[in-house]
Amino acid sequence: MIPTAFEYFAPKSLDEALRLVERHGDEAKLLAGGHSLLPLMKLRLSVPRYVIDIGRIKSLRSIREDAGALVIGALTTHHDMETSELVGSRCPLLAETAAEIGDVQVRNRGTVGGSLAHGDPAADYPAAMVALDAEIVVAASSGTRRIRAEDFFVDLLTTQLRPGEIVTEVRVPASPEMSGSAYCKLHQPASGFALVGAAAQIALDSNGKLASVAIGMTGVAVRAYRARAAEAVLAGNKPSGKLLAEAAEKVADGIEPLADLHASAAYRRAVASVYARRALETAISRANERKA
Ligand code: FAD
Repeated sequence: MIPTAFEYFAPKSLDEALRLVERHGDEAKLLAGGHSLLPLMKLRLSVPRYVIDIGRIKSLRSIREDAGALVIGALTTHHDMETSELVGSRCPLLAETAAEIGDVQVRNRGTVGGSLAHGDPAADYPAAMVALDAEIVVAASSGTRRIRAEDFFVDLLTTQLRPGEIVTEVRVPASPEMSGSAYCKLHQPASGFALVGAAAQIALDSNGKLASVAIGMTGVAVRAYRARAAEAVLAGNKPSGKLLAEAAEKVADGIEPLADLHASAAYRRAVASVYARRALETAISRANERKA
């Protein structure tokens, strides 16, 4: 349970960190909260020669508004997200999701950038990020690029990140008027991660019809995804119990659910449907409360 020897760097600026990742390439690992990296290093599943601790780069820990979007720095901890007034008012789905992550120690150390970059299929944020149409901003020495959350997650522990790139922030469009959201999660009892997590973000029009609906799922498959077939059943319609049941049945359409020692594929598919329906019902009732 002791990592192999490595050289440690603690850059104080993003430019310095970018120079280090460019110089050391595949042999380097970034360290943020360390809650996923350190266990992997102790088990020697990850054996970086260089560890670049970005925890001292103050500019990466911020939450602000910019041109109508909520902009969240990569080093924002889950606790920051859970307790931020700005996140709570502009994007309650993210605050609710953050509050579901691990325990208080994990939420105090773990960061949004680390969670997204790690690409764990059972992590919570990815469901909310895909439902919110968030953009993940990554920097390299050669410049920056923005990646839609839906495209960012590629496979098990695999994202679009290239060697030499650092996640710097996440941009989340502001929630529209008369909108509601909810995150519903079945916790894996030992680890606390999501066996299934469903994030719903909806908006109602003045006639009570669904003007927009987005459902993000995590834990079900190798990567988080948008449940497009279920969304198509609901979009433009007035929500009813029958319609929600029909949509929930389609939440894992076209998806190959994971099967492991915690849950079979059939169980995950069934639970995905139940939790997506709960998230949708809660989101719709919250939108109606805001309207009233
Ligand atoms: P680190 O461990 O420091 O890094 C993780 C990976 O991302 C490494 O490969 C690192 O090189 C890379 N990385 C880090 N920051 C960046 C960046 N800015 N740009 C590019 N690459 C980067 N998560 C959940 O979602 N739900 C849970 O219920 C949950 N429960 C947990 C319970 C326990 C006991 C523990 C230990 C963890 C749990 N987690 C859970 C994970 C936790 O949320 C971590 O925050 C998350 O896994 C990684 O964030 P980190 O900041 O610790 O990243």
